[in-house]
Amino acid sequence: MAPERVGAEPAACSRHRTVQTYLRCSRCGTPICPRCLVHTAVGARCPSCGSERQVRPAVGFVRLMGATGAGLGIGMLAGMALAIIPFGGLAIIPLLLTGLLVGEAMSAAARRRGSWLLALLAFACTVIGPILGRGLLVILLSPGVDVAVRAAVAVEVALRSFGLLGIVLLLGAGVLASTRVQNR
Ligand SMILES: [Zn+2]
Ligand SMILES: [Zn+2]
Repeated sequence: MAPERVGAEPAACSRHRTVQTYLRCSRCGTPICPRCLVHTAVGARCPSCGSERQVRPAVGFVRLMGATGAGLGIGMLAGMALAIIPFGGLAIIPLLLTGLLVGEAMSAAARRRGSWLLALLAFACTVIGPILGRGLLVILLSPGVDVAVRAAVAVEVALRSFGLLGIVLLLGAGVLASTRVQNR
């Protein structure tokens, strides 16, 4: 329990004018009496400050890694699927959908606790995931060649298969994904 803020002089409670009190709201400093104070994790508060939504703790490291794994996995699968099914200029729809999916999955994995770091990771997963997925596809579809050589060629081939428009769309999908992981 955080210590309650106490005024040096007694003051009339802001809601009960006849009651003198030493207690102050830990946020706005308004005099509060025992009848109207609201206990919160950060101390006693006046009814208006106490009813505001509590600040939730940040997402833990393990959960953040889980969310990243989920986002990257979905991004890679989407990249593979989009390589098999040619969408052409219509790729904007499945790519934006990928961004939405990645964002939603990561938000759910992080129990809807958004942060700037999660938003950044969602952006990265949406942009890098499909490229990695397509690179993996290149590796799988070119057997016989040395793995190290294939891996090196794969990313380049994957990047080229998306093209400039595809990369721009991926960046857009990434921004969309990052907006899906906000606190709510
Ligand atoms: Zn207050
Ligand atoms: Zn009062």
